[in-house]
Amino acid sequence: MALIVQKFGGTSVGDPDRIRNVARRVAETVRAGHQVAVCVSAMSGETNALVALAEDLGAGRPSPREYDVLVSTGEQKTIALLCMALHQIGVEARSFTGAQMGMRTDRAHGRARIQSIDTDALRRALDAGEVAVIAGFQGVDDDGNITTLGRGGSDTSAVAVACALQADVCEILTDVDGVFTTDPGMVPAARKLDRIAYEEMLEMASLGAKVLQIRSVKFAMHYGVPLHVRSSFGKGEGTWVVREEDVMERLVVSGVTYNRGEAKIRVRKVKDAPGVAAGLFGPLSEAGIVVDMIIQNVSQDGTTDLTFTVPREDYARGIELTQKLAPGLGAEDVEGDEDIAKVSVVGLGMKDHAGVAARMFQVLAEEGINIQLISTSEIKISVILQEKYTELAVRALHKAFVEDGAAAPTDERT
Ligand code: ASP
Ligand code: MG
Repeated sequence: MALIVQKFGGTSVGDPDRIRNVARRVAETVRAGHQVAVCVSAMSGETNALVALAEDLGAGRPSPREYDVLVSTGEQKTIALLCMALHQIGVEARSFTGAQMGMRTDRAHGRARIQSIDTDALRRALDAGEVAVIAGFQGVDDDGNITTLGRGGSDTSAVAVACALQADVCEILTDVDGVFTTDPGMVPAARKLDRIAYEEMLEMASLGAKVLQIRSVKFAMHYGVPLHVRSSFGKGEGTWVVREEDVMERLVVSGVTYNRGEAKIRVRKVKDAPGVAAGLFGPLSEAGIVVDMIIQNVSQDGTTDLTFTVPREDYARGIELTQKLAPGLGAEDVEGDEDIAKVSVVGLGMKDHAGVAARMFQVLAEEGINIQLISTSEIKISVILQEKYTELAVRALHKAFVEDGAAAPTDERT
């Protein structure tokens, strides 16, 4: 007998038929002899509709406390409906709101962090042979106020519950078959990965693959709970997200990702002197703007160019602030560019294969694509290019590294 946490997203519980489908799926797992806790999202579109209601009220910025009371109701609906559907097919089940299952968070309404989970109530239900049906996305603070974890937060709820219960696996049942080598909508030859390491998944999630919330992967990695991302509609195996040592096939490149959500800012001819970078990036960070890549050119005549990228939604604020700071840094001028995309290759095997960067640059050069910025970590290489080349770059890199399997390892490290 295993203890399994199953998480179903909004699409999987989007209407009564689908809720019945989820109930059947849960029932199969129960009848196979397992203990099951199910964590659900709001029905698809529900959370957006709740947010829109608050906007329609024209209340300006709603009180964060009341905002959370409102948006958390979506998941409460789903847990009740799923329990009813389970009862109908003879499966014992009990619903749990965040408060009822002791999901304690800090007080940061709208983006709360989980602090602890008191698993007693959940364990009692599971030991009594009931399915515990848990509302994702919500918790309570020390004073019992309802909090929410941020959009997409029910992945994190599910994984946190799996960690707290020391579950054997946390299944993320979703509307895709697993984690793919790249976006199958863009590259038909994309293939599903059988296994991937937490580290790779983290890179892929933060570089633009949208299967899992990043925080949920961090949780799972920290507690060593395996994740299994699979389809809620089909029966096939999906992708296991596991420890590095449990990944058999160590691919040099396991994924090609892209992100169109950044913009670039260049400060020309700043003084090449101590304190200049701090004088720029300090205030940006205080303004809550997260800078991703930073490149500083070789200095000439005591000045240099600094180029960096920020999330596109912070671009307007970022460039305004940079323009304000520029005179103090002795800068000549500030330029911005929203017409960019980031394309990356990710793979654990890069740790012991050289030549991946060189091969990547060569593939892009053959397509006539100019690289604007480059950044690397142990297991990924990212480049910034003009947005219109995104698809071409992703296809060419996928072809070279995944379809042709051309890791093209050389003896030299690049
Ligand atoms: N219902 C919440 C949202 O739409 C949480 C989730 O679905 O993960 O963001
Ligand atoms: Mg979701």
